[in-house]
Amino acid sequence: MTRRFTRREAMFTAAGAGLGALGAFGQTRAGNPPYPSWKTGFRQLAPNVYAYTQAGGPGVPSSAISNGACILGPDHWMAIDAFAAPPHTKAFLAAAKTLAGSRTCDRLINTHHHADHTTGNCFFLPAEIVGHEYCRKAVISNGISNLAGRPESWKVGMAELKLAPPTTTFDDRSRITYWYGNTEVRLMYNGSPAHTWGDALIYLPQYKILWAGDVAFFYVAPAAQSGHISKWIESIDRINKMDVDVIVPGHGPIGSKKELAETREYLTILKAEAKRRYDMKMSPGKAAAEIEDKLGKYSTWADPAAVRTVNSVVRLYAEFNDSLTSETDMAAVAAASQEYLEIRGGAVQLR
Ligand SMILES: [Zn+2]
Repeated sequence: MTRRFTRREAMFTAAGAGLGALGAFGQTRAGNPPYPSWKTGFRQLAPNVYAYTQAGGPGVPSSAISNGACILGPDHWMAIDAFAAPPHTKAFLAAAKTLAGSRTCDRLINTHHHADHTTGNCFFLPAEIVGHEYCRKAVISNGISNLAGRPESWKVGMAELKLAPPTTTFDDRSRITYWYGNTEVRLMYNGSPAHTWGDALIYLPQYKILWAGDVAFFYVAPAAQSGHISKWIESIDRINKMDVDVIVPGHGPIGSKKELAETREYLTILKAEAKRRYDMKMSPGKAAAEIEDKLGKYSTWADPAAVRTVNSVVRLYAEFNDSLTSETDMAAVAAASQEYLEIRGGAVQLR
């Protein structure tokens, strides 16, 4: 029987769910990856428009280290995404205060439901919280993240957490425009599932800036545990047709369509390699173990590349056999992970 784990379990309680082997993936791979490091903090992209990144780069664990935004209006400001752990969100809010002064945050947009983008929602209240209707549903069904398996330093302030799902939702056909002073902020759905079944894009047409959420991973291995990889690639193709110069990814440094092309290439390689092995009737764990050697420069992208390959292959196999749903099939992931580790063993180095 297949047990479908909740998203929260999928993200944070692998060890507690009897998936201890996954712990061996919590590492980065050896070598000197040819990609940049980036810092925690705000970077101004346009007047009153600031992107927030959390530090990462070669050798730095990047799992659940996500990005955000502060867009200032005359009286209030808008945020994009809360963060995985209370200290992350509090650091963001403290930094935003230096930009916003006495102005309060009146609105938070969740790019999608994953815990590293929504756990800190409660710290933004009484701001309006906005997300896709699937995002609200998933935040509620997953409950508050318990941050299992995360560093103890992330758990400071856990007692303050309370569930705060989006209270304003949009559907697949919705387009909403907010104005912060003279800054136009368009909230849109990009036409299909991609990283999840409820991804939001936030587009600032005056400045050609896009917050792409986790549809974009720059120098961080894309996590596909809730994704539809073929439709994700199509979603990227639609973004490429937009008038966009600057892209803030869900994870990684601020970039452009150039970096988005790499997210696409990574997913395309995975799909082609997985399809070949699916057609050979190879098991997903063995396929992931082989594909790990086919990722080229992407094999060094920030962690945990290995577990993300397993997740992606499981999702792709479900896509190929027409059984893919919005939910992560963690039993299938666990079985594939076990097989992957049995094959690759010491090839995965512990940090
Ligand atoms: Zn995500």
